[in-house]
Amino acid sequence: MSEERLEFKAEVSRLLEIVAKSLYSHREVFLRELISNASDACDRLRYAALTVPDLAGSDADYKIRVSVDKDAGTLTIADNGIGMGRPELVDNLGTIARSGTLAFLEQLSGDAKKDVSQIGQFGVGFYSAFMVADKVTVLTRKAGEAQGWRWESDGQGAFTIADEGGLARGTRVILHVTEDAKEFLDPQRIHGVVKRYSDHIPIPIVMAGTSESGAAEDETLNRASALWMRPKSDVTDEQYTEFYHHVAHAFDDPWLTLHFRAEGMLEYAALLFVPTRAPFDLYQPDRKHQVKLYVRRVFVTDDAEGLIPPYLRFVRGVIDSEDLPLNVSREMLQSNPMVTRIRQGVTKRILGELTRKAKDEPAGYAQFWEAFGPVLKEGVYEETGQRDTLMPLLRFRSTGGEGDQAWVDLDGYVERMRPGQDAIYYITGDDADALRRSPHLEGFAAKGVEVLLLTDPVDEFWVPAVGTYKDKPLKSVTRIGSDLSKIKAEAGKTEADAPAAPGNIDRLVAVFKDTLKDAVKDVRTSERLTDSPVCLVADEGDMDIHLERLLKQHRQLQQASPRILEVNPGHPLIAAATRTLEDSGSTDRAEELAWLLLDQARIVEGDPPPDPTAFSRRLTKALERGLAG
Ligand code: ADP
Ligand code: MG
Repeated sequence: MSEERLEFKAEVSRLLEIVAKSLYSHREVFLRELISNASDACDRLRYAALTVPDLAGSDADYKIRVSVDKDAGTLTIADNGIGMGRPELVDNLGTIARSGTLAFLEQLSGDAKKDVSQIGQFGVGFYSAFMVADKVTVLTRKAGEAQGWRWESDGQGAFTIADEGGLARGTRVILHVTEDAKEFLDPQRIHGVVKRYSDHIPIPIVMAGTSESGAAEDETLNRASALWMRPKSDVTDEQYTEFYHHVAHAFDDPWLTLHFRAEGMLEYAALLFVPTRAPFDLYQPDRKHQVKLYVRRVFVTDDAEGLIPPYLRFVRGVIDSEDLPLNVSREMLQSNPMVTRIRQGVTKRILGELTRKAKDEPAGYAQFWEAFGPVLKEGVYEETGQRDTLMPLLRFRSTGGEGDQAWVDLDGYVERMRPGQDAIYYITGDDADALRRSPHLEGFAAKGVEVLLLTDPVDEFWVPAVGTYKDKPLKSVTRIGSDLSKIKAEAGKTEADAPAAPGNIDRLVAVFKDTLKDAVKDVRTSERLTDSPVCLVADEGDMDIHLERLLKQHRQLQQASPRILEVNPGHPLIAAATRTLEDSGSTDRAEELAWLLLDQARIVEGDPPPDPTAFSRRLTKALERGLAG
């Protein structure tokens, strides 16, 4: 029969290079990946056969067979699952499904970490076969099709596909094991690896006798029962961890393991995990969760919309319902009231567990927060019903937090509020350290008023949506209307308010206003500044400055709206300008200064001056004058 040779996509070739070159530790995970694929294939056929029983035919006894042939130097993993047709072979074993995968892997294998045992996480587990094989043959026949196929590759840039007769349904992956990987031809070694990584696979993994004649007894290597149905006392931490690696395609330890059964009106078992590290695709725009839905031990889908809310999409694991009909379609799931009730129950359990952790293990909770905090904040925005539970779970960097690692919560903030302070103050930006230096904070620091430093894009959305916490309004310090004069300063801090206005500050402000015209919304004296001469603030109803910048970056907004320029009457520069204006009778200097200060305030905000040449000219002139005395 004719054989066709096809090139791997460039990124697959590169991936295979990484796989072949850089992995020497944990090589045995290839077996976990291939068994995991075989198990997936059986799951998928079992589900498909619910509606089309002919697909499974007389062979519905799903099994994964592992066998070694020492003489031929091959290790074979065979399943009687769904198999692959020709187009699927090309697509699945010739490309990388998820974008961004290769870039991530390159970075992972770049440094000293010569270990790509995390490979399964990227949906490229199959290629790990080339860690131990210099040739891989895949024989496969898809359920419901008569024609079978042989896929073959040495992992060097190309593969071949030919038709192949006489194949049983399902897939056989034959590894031609390399000289330095002969250990994987030892049944004892295989036994150990399967036990270690694949014990939780609910489908029997059997080891056939070696090729030497005599029908050796099949030996089942794993327990082959659904781990989530076992009583908790029957499952070890290691088994939980291995199962987590399998369902989550992850390699870290679970940060939280949640194993429970709901009984009564609605019956289901759940085995859920919160990872320690954030997966690389956590911020994909589709915000899909990845919890697998089973119905009475049969895998149904890992794409059940509405099973887990988007703001808990970092949760991994399995939910197994006793009540849902087995042949539910995806569309039916979407609006199914049972799914809604399962989601509510599971959400409550997860949030309850997070609340407990936050209280009992603050350090551990901070680790969770650093990985998943921004995702949880989405819930505050979109799930109003859970706000009361979610708000106390939020953590923030703050000017009151000690060091960079300190996280504060809202209750702690409220306790620390100064007498006379009636709002929770915050500032938004890209980077906490830059925010700490913002001129907007000067007056607050002078009074010992704590300010939350918000650096996640989602903060721009949930904060205005929530508005208050425990009746205290959340107020941005970059917005007018924070009445600092009412707040009593902390002991030891000076009452910085109303620095003696030197001369006629109002006149200077009026000249600034006339000069800057439409470039600003207004010019006012400020009480929020102590060290800086000026800053820009947003008016009451205007968009927050940082949000506006975000929108402009994403081209959602054409033009920024003009801001209010606040002037610090106590600053020596402003004082001098006031005097000069009074003495000289000319407004020339004050006009120059107005533009210089506005541009400077823009730069502090992270925005370039709109006319850099004019800015530079004015600055040079001012320096000349200053240096000339
Ligand atoms: P992933 O399992 O994360 O999708 P893999 O690289 O392990 O990534 O496998 C790629 C794809 O190849 C699978 O999604 C599946 O469609 C197909 N595949 C691999 N092994 C088998 C198998 N034994 N039976 C059927 N399909 C398979
Ligand atoms: Mg896989």
